[in-house]
Amino acid sequence: MNFYSLNNRQYKVSFKEAVLMGQAPEKGLFFPESIPLLTPEFRQNWRAFSNEEIAFQTILPFVGTDIDKPALRRIVEETIPFEFPLREVESNVYALELFHGPTLAFKDVGARFLSRCLEYFVAQSEKKITILVATSGDTGGAVADAFYEVEGVDVIILFPSGKVSETQRLQLTTYGKNITACEVSGTFDDCQAMVKQAFADRDLSQRYHFNSANSINIARWLSQQFYYFIAVKQWPLGQAPVISVPSGNFGNICAGLLAGKRGLPVRKFLAACNENDLFVRYLESGDTSARDTIPTVSNAMDVGKPSNFQRVLALFENNHAAIRRHISAYRFTSAETLEAIRAIAEKTGYIMDPHGAVGYLALKAHLENNKGEAGIFLETAHPAKFSETVQPVVSQKIQAPGKIENLALKESYSRKISTSMSAFKELLMSGFK
Ligand SMILES: *Cc1c(COP(=O)(O)O)cnc(C)c1O
Repeated sequence: MNFYSLNNRQYKVSFKEAVLMGQAPEKGLFFPESIPLLTPEFRQNWRAFSNEEIAFQTILPFVGTDIDKPALRRIVEETIPFEFPLREVESNVYALELFHGPTLAFKDVGARFLSRCLEYFVAQSEKKITILVATSGDTGGAVADAFYEVEGVDVIILFPSGKVSETQRLQLTTYGKNITACEVSGTFDDCQAMVKQAFADRDLSQRYHFNSANSINIARWLSQQFYYFIAVKQWPLGQAPVISVPSGNFGNICAGLLAGKRGLPVRKFLAACNENDLFVRYLESGDTSARDTIPTVSNAMDVGKPSNFQRVLALFENNHAAIRRHISAYRFTSAETLEAIRAIAEKTGYIMDPHGAVGYLALKAHLENNKGEAGIFLETAHPAKFSETVQPVVSQKIQAPGKIENLALKESYSRKISTSMSAFKELLMSGFK
């Protein structure tokens, strides 16, 4: 399959090129030339398939022959080797737990698929790739874990000193080998500016083949379809579920919408937002003016201008009425989010993380107005990842999975650097000597 740029319909590349480029020129987003519908055989049989078989068959039309079939099977097996349980939280309300991967958040799936695809493509060209990424917390950990010991790919992560949680800092700095973590004495915006300058620098571009591994890469976007299929496979009720997606950059919900367009039975998608509500305003009135980002307790969703908004529009050919038919959007404050976490923990014993809690609230609001429906909210992270926020409002002790507890015992490696671009460039040119 070819992918065109949403900036320029004439600009088309293969799956392989789109993955290696990440983004089309002038910040264009790649988009599939056609939406491959599920085949009648798949619709008949898929509920009996293993998760790996579902993942393989649903991604194959996009990858085509760019990856040979046995290699693609191995890649999807390595992408989802953990559970995606669907748990009943209240009657008609189910949580799809996406936090059983190595860094306890859904981003593991997209990052792992991307890393294995890059490994495959790098092996063909023998040109080493360097992933350079700025992180405010979650993305960096998923990328570090997904690329650890991947042949032919080095990773350099910039994170703001003192501004990530202790768990996140350990997740970034305890890998070593091909993962280099740089602790920047500045803000996330400083880190991002340094990454952008490095990409634009001629000397550095001669020394390195940079890639960004960010969430708009099609390998991350398309592989997020997997767990929507895995969710519906487990759905125990008769009529199709509503699915509520805690949304920031809209990559995750955009993958669900794509799966829906292909024929996955979903009644409606809910965009669950915090106070960063551009999409809510768009559905209400067509208003798409960007506003400054507002910090909230669901900070991985603190995005003023979602980069995948263009893809949502493209999926529905910019038709506002069609978008409103398929998606409803809800916004909740930090106070409402914390109150939901408290109340549900008290009533049911289930502890939600601040992002999943926004999803829960949107689902409840929707079911309130649409009696007789039932649905799923995506639990996008484990509450232990955000224990600073969650523990004070729940009476039960949050159990941290062993993966987190053992981190504190590991050796931590990071380079402390300033926000000086010339010093960072020198370090890169010397290969971190
Ligand atoms: C990244 C993230 C989100 C938002 O996902 P998008 O694809 O950016 O909409 C939600 N929850 C958690 C825990 C995240 O890390």
